[in-house]
Amino acid sequence: MRIDLHCHSTASDGTDTPAELVRNAAAAGLDVVALTDHDTTRGYAEAVAALPSGLTLVTGAELSCRIGGVSMHMLAYLFDPEEPALLAERELVRDDRVPRARAMVAKLNELDVPVTWEQVARIAGEGSVGRPHVAAALVELGVVPTVSDAFTQDWLADGGRAYAEKHETDPFEAIRLVKGAGGVTVLAHPAAAKRGRTVPESDVAELAAAGLDGIEVDHMDHDADTRDRLRGLAKDLGLLVTGSSDYHGSRKTCELGEYTTDPEVYGEITRRSTGAFPVPGAGGA
Ligand code: AMP
Ligand code: FE
Ligand code: FE
Ligand code: ZN
Repeated sequence: MRIDLHCHSTASDGTDTPAELVRNAAAAGLDVVALTDHDTTRGYAEAVAALPSGLTLVTGAELSCRIGGVSMHMLAYLFDPEEPALLAERELVRDDRVPRARAMVAKLNELDVPVTWEQVARIAGEGSVGRPHVAAALVELGVVPTVSDAFTQDWLADGGRAYAEKHETDPFEAIRLVKGAGGVTVLAHPAAAKRGRTVPESDVAELAAAGLDGIEVDHMDHDADTRDRLRGLAKDLGLLVTGSSDYHGSRKTCELGEYTTDPEVYGEITRRSTGAFPVPGAGGA
C-alpha cells in the first residue's frame, strides 16, 4: 500500500487540476491519495468524479494557522465539508487571501515590479489565491527564475519586503473545529525551517494535549536529523507520524509518492474520523 496524504491541486496553489491529480496519483502507483488544498474543499467533486479504480481518495484540507506570531499549517482529514463552523472559518481565511494578495501586489509595485492584480488573478484562476501565484507572476516578469526563488526576504518569504499577512486560525481553534466536524488533524511540516520560523516543541506538546492527532515527519523540507528528532517527539507525545509529498505539480520539485505514510497510521486516521469516509475509485470520468 502506497499512501500519500498531502497534495495540492488548482483548487489552491497546485498546477494539476483535481482530475489530473488523481490520474497522476494512480499513474505514480499510489493506492491512497489525499487532496489537501489550502483552506478549501472545492476540488473534491472533480477529484471524486475522475477517481480511477484502484485508487482511494482521502478528502482533506491544509488550514492556515498562526501561533505566537508563527505561521503554520494544519492538515485536516475526513471532516464533514458541510459542517458550518469549520466551513465558515475556511471561508474567512480564503476570502482574506484576496485583499492580502492585492497588498502584496501593491508592495511589489512600490519596489518597481510591474505586477498587476489581474495577472495574479489569471494565474490563480478559481484556486484560493496564495503566494505561489504571486511568485509565478514574478517568474513571468523575469524578476526571479523559479517560484521558489521568490520565497526570500527580498520578496515573499515570511516578513519579506513584499510579504503581507492574511487571517490565520489559532491552531487550538482549528483542532476544535476539525474535531467538531468529525475530522483528524496532523501538523504539516512542523520543522520546515526554510519557510521561516517554526513552532517550538513546547507548542507541539500543548497542541497534542489539546487533541492534535499527528505530525508530518517524512517531508522534503525535513533533513534526516530533523526526522529523527520529530519521530522521538511524536513518540513522547503519543502522536501519529505521517509522510507525504506535499505535491504542488510543477510549482514545486517534489513528486507524487516521494514520501508516504505507513498503512497502519492511515488505518488509525480512518478509524478516528467520523466526518467522512475515504472514497474508493469507481473508474473515473
Ligand atoms: P500562502 O498560503 O499564500 O502564505 O503561501 C504558502 C505556500 O507557499 C505554501 O503552501 C507553499 O506552497 C509555498 N511555499 C512556501 N515556501 C516555499 C518555498 N521556499 N518554495 C516554494 N514554495 C514555497
Ligand atoms: Fe502550497
Ligand atoms: Fe504547507
Ligand atoms: Zn501543502
